[in-house]
Amino acid sequence: MSQQTADNIIKIRSALPDSVKLVAVSKFHPAEVIKEAYGAGQKIFGESRVQELLAKKESLPSDIEWHFIGHLQTNKVKNIVPFITLIHSGDSERVLAEINRCAEKAGRKVNVLLQLHVAQEETKTGFTPDELALYMERGDWRAFTSIAISGVMGMASFVEDELQIRREFTAIRNVFDELRRRYFQDDGNFSVCSMGMSHDYRIAVECGSTMVRIGTTIFGEREY
Ligand SMILES: *Cc1c(COP(=O)(O)O)cnc(C)c1O
Repeated sequence: MSQQTADNIIKIRSALPDSVKLVAVSKFHPAEVIKEAYGAGQKIFGESRVQELLAKKESLPSDIEWHFIGHLQTNKVKNIVPFITLIHSGDSERVLAEINRCAEKAGRKVNVLLQLHVAQEETKTGFTPDELALYMERGDWRAFTSIAISGVMGMASFVEDELQIRREFTAIRNVFDELRRRYFQDDGNFSVCSMGMSHDYRIAVECGSTMVRIGTTIFGEREY
């Protein structure tokens, strides 16, 4: 059992190009299995609920890089801003403004990804490519001096059709390239195209992902 997590990590890492970072998505899994993954050299972990993250973090090594990947309620932003390495879920103007406000207060600059909505599912949060283009053009974000926009995050539809998945990942990558060209040409920090989960990360990597977020393939099924 315990060797399994380490084996999974090693297997996935060896299948990924060196240029692609692995976020081990540990949501709903206990601190003990995170320790096992850590023992296999994994340092980046992703969580999607603030309370759960705060509780687990206490008992785990301090050099873990925590990434937040779930929808963030504005009233909880302040709890993660002091330590979070990367927030993948910058999914609205409101949450970006709140991250900036809390980061300024905490005296640090917080890395954030702009979350894109390209999938067909209604429930997924994020900016559509059109909304994001308008938002970026308007330029209010330039006043957010305590956040560093580091790239984009997105999900493909949960479907069998590989062509559709490929089309959606390509759309996300195209937005990333276009934003970099227009607004971040001289900003080396704008470098993350976060896409790909357990069932579709191979396709995501082929479509230009630089960071994959994998839970089930590492830790097994989640019990909600
Ligand atoms: C849960 C989650 C993942 C990991 O999903 P798996 O299918 O378990 O690999 C990746 N990204 C986000 C945003 C998630 O919420």
